[in-house]
Amino acid sequence: MAALRNTLTYLVPDSFTVQPGQRVQVPLATRKATGIVLRAGSSLPPGIQARSILRVLDTEPVLTPELLELGLWIADYYVAPIGEVFRAMLPLRSTMRRARSVRLSALGQQKLQGINQPGQEPAGSAIELLSYLATRGSASVQLLRQKFPEEFDEALEKKWVVVEEFQRERTQREVFAVRLSGPVPEKNVRLSPVAKRIIEALGAAGTARDHRDLLHSARADLAALRRLQASGLVELEPSRAEGRSTPQTPDSWVETGTPLVLTSAQSTVLTDLTKQLESRQFQTVLLHGVTGSGKTEVYLRLIARCLELGRTALMLVPEIALTPSVQAQFLTRFGSKVALLHSALSENERHEEWWRIRRGEAQVVLGTRSAVFAPLANLGVVIVDEEHDTSYKQEETPRYHGRDVAVVRARLAAALAVLGSATPSLESYWNAREGKYRLALLPERVEGRKLADVEIVDMRQEFRETHTQVPVSRRLHQEIEAQLANGQQTMILLNRRGYSWFLLCRSCGQTQRCVNCSISLTYHRREHRLMCHYCGYSAPVPSRCPNCDSEYLYYVGEGTERVEKKFAELFPTVRVARLDRDVARRQGQFHRILSEFRQRKIDLLIGTQLIAKGHDFPGVTLVGVVSADIGLGLPDFRSAERTFQLLTQAAGRAGRGESPGRVLVQTFFPDHYAIRLAAEQNYEAFFDKEMRFRRMMHYPPVTALANVIAQGSKLEQAAQVAKHVGDFLIPLEQDTEGVKILGPTPAPLAKLVGRFRIQFLIKCTSRARLSTILRRLADYADQQGIPQRSLVIDMDPSNIM
Ligand SMILES: [Zn+2]
Ligand SMILES: [Zn+2]
Repeated sequence: MAALRNTLTYLVPDSFTVQPGQRVQVPLATRKATGIVLRAGSSLPPGIQARSILRVLDTEPVLTPELLELGLWIADYYVAPIGEVFRAMLPLRSTMRRARSVRLSALGQQKLQGINQPGQEPAGSAIELLSYLATRGSASVQLLRQKFPEEFDEALEKKWVVVEEFQRERTQREVFAVRLSGPVPEKNVRLSPVAKRIIEALGAAGTARDHRDLLHSARADLAALRRLQASGLVELEPSRAEGRSTPQTPDSWVETGTPLVLTSAQSTVLTDLTKQLESRQFQTVLLHGVTGSGKTEVYLRLIARCLELGRTALMLVPEIALTPSVQAQFLTRFGSKVALLHSALSENERHEEWWRIRRGEAQVVLGTRSAVFAPLANLGVVIVDEEHDTSYKQEETPRYHGRDVAVVRARLAAALAVLGSATPSLESYWNAREGKYRLALLPERVEGRKLADVEIVDMRQEFRETHTQVPVSRRLHQEIEAQLANGQQTMILLNRRGYSWFLLCRSCGQTQRCVNCSISLTYHRREHRLMCHYCGYSAPVPSRCPNCDSEYLYYVGEGTERVEKKFAELFPTVRVARLDRDVARRQGQFHRILSEFRQRKIDLLIGTQLIAKGHDFPGVTLVGVVSADIGLGLPDFRSAERTFQLLTQAAGRAGRGESPGRVLVQTFFPDHYAIRLAAEQNYEAFFDKEMRFRRMMHYPPVTALANVIAQGSKLEQAAQVAKHVGDFLIPLEQDTEGVKILGPTPAPLAKLVGRFRIQFLIKCTSRARLSTILRRLADYADQQGIPQRSLVIDMDPSNIM
C-alpha cells in the first residue's frame, strides 16, 4: 500500500467482483500496488478516467465495514496517509510481494571482462562485487548493501548493475509433522551436534506435531532437518496447521490463590459494567482503581460475561505489561478462545493469530497497541488497561493513540469501552469529570491490604551530612539490610539505563555528544562504549578529552548498570539482578528475570520503568526509588504527570502479598508536588494541582495540541520547510478563533537521528478544528512539493521533545 493521502478510483473489469475491504492489485504510475476497496459503485463518476484493477487478492474482505470506517477516521483525525493507516491495520503478508534483485548490466560485464586490458580505468574494489554477481547470477539489494556497502552505490551510479523489480508469490509456509524413522539411534552413531539436538528434542516418543516448534527447541533450521530426512533418520509429513497449540506457560505463573469472592467495591463495579455491556450501547467507563485493587479480576469476569452474551472481547495492555502472568490468567480462564497479538510474535505467528480471529475461532484478543485493529466481529467490550501508558501512542506514521482509537472502535461497534488505571491520564480523568466518561472506583486494595507507606529521603540533607554524593542514602542502605536479614525482596527503581549519564571533561566542560542527535552519549560499561539512546550511535571511550586533550574525564550521574555494580559490592552475598532495556534485548532475559524474581531466586532487583508497571510480585515489601526527580527537568509539559505516574506505580509494587510494603523515595526536590502527592498516593489532589498549571499554560486536556516538526538533513532544508509551514500557519492564527501558534523554534531535541528539527506547537480550543487545520496544512505542504518525511504532523502528541 502506497503512502497516499487521497483515495483513487479504478475500473473493475466484468470478470471480477469486488467488495469493500478486499485487497486488489492495481496499476499505480509505472508499477503495481496493493489497494483496499473502499467503495464499489456501479458507474464511474462523470469526467473520471480510470485504469482497471489487475487482480483481486482476497476471496473475502480482510477489513470489515467497521474497520474500514475506523481506518478512515484515523487517516482523517491524525492526518495520516490512508495507505499507511491500512498497512498498519493489516499485519498480513500480502499474498504478493515486491522483490528486488540485482544483476550485472552489459556495462558491468564489459567492465569485468576488461579489467586486465590496457587502457581500462581500474574498477577498484567494486570488482569484487561484480565478480560475486557474475558467479551468483543475481542477489538481493539487501544482501549486496550488507556485503559491499560502498561499492554497491558506486556500481549503481556507474550503471554496472541493474535493479529489477518483480512480483513474487508468497508461498504459504507448510507445516510438517516429524517422526523418527526407526528406533532412537545409539549413542555411538556419529551425528552432527545439530542432528543430536533435533533427535533429543524429538524426545522419547520420537515425534513432533509442528516442525517449527521442534526446530525452535533444537536451535536448528529447516535445512538441518532436511539433511536428516535425506539421510533417512526422520520422516516429514505435511500436517494441516490446525492453529498453534496454546502457548506453554510455566507453572509458576499460574495463579493459585485466585480470589473467589470479590470485594464489595469489585462487585459494585462489575455489576455496573455488566449492566452497561448488556445495554448494547456505546459507553466509556474510566475505572480508577488503586494499585493492587484487583482490576484484572474485574476485567476477566466482564469478558466471561461478554462471551456468554455471544459477543467478543478485546483487551489492550502496554507492551511491557504483557507478561507471562497476564497471559497465563487469560489462557487459564478462556483457553483456546484467546488470541495473542503483540510485537514479539514472528510474522508467521501474527499471521496465524490474525486469521484465527478473522475466522471467528478466537473470541478474546489480548494484545498491545496495534491489537486495537484485531478483526473481531460482534465486539462487546474493549478494555484498555494502564490507559495512561505512553506506549499506546505510536511514534511513527500513522501517529495514532491506541487508547483513543479503542474508544472510537467501541463507538463504531456499539460496544463498552473500559479504560483502567491507578494513575489515569489527565485527559481521561478530565473526560470523566466533564461527564463524557463514567467514572468507576476501586479505592482499596484486595483482601484489606494497605497501600504501602511512602517515605521521602531528602538527598540535599544527605549531602549536607555526608559530604558525598552517592546513589544510595544511608536510610535506604539500612532498610535494604533489614530486608535481607528478614529474607524479604527489594526492588530498586532508577529510570536511567547505562552506567553513567555522560562523560564530562573537567577542564573544558565539554561532554561527548552524539554525531546524529543533539544529546550527550551515555556510558555503557558492559560494552565499554559511549552510546546514543535515540539513534543507536556508539563511540569508543576516549582516554583524553577530544576537545582540549585533558585527561580529567569524569563519569557523571548514575545509571542502572552502575547502581547494580554498587549493590553487588555493598552486598556481596546477595542475589542481585538488573532489568532494563539493555538486558531485555537479550533473548529471553526479560521473562527469565521476572520469573526468577517472582520465584524469589533474586533478592534485589534493580531496573528502569520496566519493573515499575503492572507486575505483581507478592514477595516485595520494599521499593527504593533512586533519583525520583530524574524526569522532572525535561522540557515537556507532561513531565510532572509522568513523574507522578511512575512513582505511584512503583510504590504500587510494594506490599502486594501478605506482608505490608514500604517505599523510600530519594529526591533533591522533596517539595515538588508531583513527588509529594505521589508519596501520599493522592491522585485527586495531584489532578487538581496539575490542572491549574495546564489551564494557566493552555495545555491539554484544556486545549487541543499538535506538534508540527519541519525537518531535514541540513539545517537550511529544515528552515526552508519551516518557512512554508510558517507562511501557512501564522496568518491562520490571526483569522481563526481560539488558535495559538508557538514557534518556529528549534525542537528540544534540535537534532535527532541526523535530522535538524524545527518545531511549531499549535494549540486550539477545539480538537475538531485543530484536526481540520492540520489537514489543510498537509494539503498545502503537498502543493508546495514538501516531501512527507520532511514534515511531521503529530496530533495529540504524547511528548513534545
Ligand atoms: Zn576538555
Ligand atoms: Zn543519536
